[in-house]
Amino acid sequence: MLIDSHAHLDDSRFDNDRDVLIRDLKNNGIEMVINIGADLGSSIASVSLAEKYDNIYAAVGVHPHSAKEMDNSTIEILKTFAKRDKVVAIGEIGLDFYYDNSPRDIQKKWFKEQLELAKEVDLPVIIHTRDAAQDTFDILKNAQDGRLKGVLHCYSGSVEMAMEYIKMGFYISLAGPVTFKNSKVSKEVAKAVPLDKLLVETDSPYLTPEPYRGKRNEPIFVRYVAGTIAETRGISFEELAKATNRNTRKLFKIV
Ligand SMILES: [Zn+2]
Ligand SMILES: [Zn+2]
Repeated sequence: MLIDSHAHLDDSRFDNDRDVLIRDLKNNGIEMVINIGADLGSSIASVSLAEKYDNIYAAVGVHPHSAKEMDNSTIEILKTFAKRDKVVAIGEIGLDFYYDNSPRDIQKKWFKEQLELAKEVDLPVIIHTRDAAQDTFDILKNAQDGRLKGVLHCYSGSVEMAMEYIKMGFYISLAGPVTFKNSKVSKEVAKAVPLDKLLVETDSPYLTPEPYRGKRNEPIFVRYVAGTIAETRGISFEELAKATNRNTRKLFKIV
């Protein structure tokens, strides 16, 4: 069964049907969802969801958009949450130079601090990067001392850089954009990444795949992401589902 390795089900767009949606996941072929924090509020909401539902796991962290809201006490709070059973990762963290919602030096500072936190609490990281490919790579390379593991979420970079990340011990996760008609590079990445290094995700409620582009995204649509990747690689849907399920469990230590 598929795992949606990255969703934001705490988003207010799920307020009217969150409970039903989560309870129906299994009937719709989704075994579990990793719900991702983006600031302190959504990290707390993520942990609550994970502790309420068996099929939800949580990541806690502060997105580069909200880096300017961070201080040392934020790290301490994240550290406390990191110790909970159902918290499986620090994220999403990284750099976003497209929106620049936080100053770039502040984004870099708190990205590095959260990487150190992840090493300290021995959890993998979920990396968000947009228009900041080289800076993200350099920071991760510098931080990698053998203890860092994680995933580049909604990966949109080159095949070459994906391979460099894999060499560094990271996984590559693909989302809705791989289904878009003009997604030549994403499809090349989908084909090139070793099957044991690949994850699938929706980033719900954002990035809705074809054929539902424009609507609210939800975890069951991860099947379109998986379907496109399987087709691109010339393997069966089942083989892709099995491999990405195994990879997600391995990375996040979910047995
Ligand atoms: Zn993201
Ligand atoms: Zn996200």
